[in-house]
Amino acid sequence: MRQAEYQHVKAERQKMKNSSLYNELIANRTRGKQRHYNLTRRDAESIRFYRSGQWKQIRDYRIAYDQYTCQCCGNNYQANRLTADHVVMRKLLPSKQQLDWHNLWTLCNRCNAVKQQLEIKFQKEGKVNQLKNMSKSDWKKLILEKENIKNAPAPFV
Ligand SMILES: [Zn+2]
Repeated sequence: MRQAEYQHVKAERQKMKNSSLYNELIANRTRGKQRHYNLTRRDAESIRFYRSGQWKQIRDYRIAYDQYTCQCCGNNYQANRLTADHVVMRKLLPSKQQLDWHNLWTLCNRCNAVKQQLEIKFQKEGKVNQLKNMSKSDWKKLILEKENIKNAPAPFV
């Protein structure tokens, strides 16, 4: 009886391994590992970059050069409310170009947040080439458009 039970369990397990559901579970587990890698190892790399003396120097220089003015909405802020943003996302660039001064511009926190949302959206849509080719004025237009929609007064009913 016990032997028969064992055979039954063994057969069931084999059936499960052959099923597409099982294979899907394994595939999901692999994807989970990739996601974990993206969240940990890649972030560690980002942290290293943004802590580097080289980056801090170029960031401060860019913000001073832009006269503490958001290059998108044109408002003035204190340095701690401004970001030197990579026009073409840093992660899309080889490491040498990540410190390219020409690819930086000063953005306020608000405009930067809108740009980040748009970057996530483009990435989800697979528009990586577009992300690599957008100029500062392309971005400015898109970001202001998005902010104006948010700020638009409610239409009369
Ligand atoms: Zn701004």
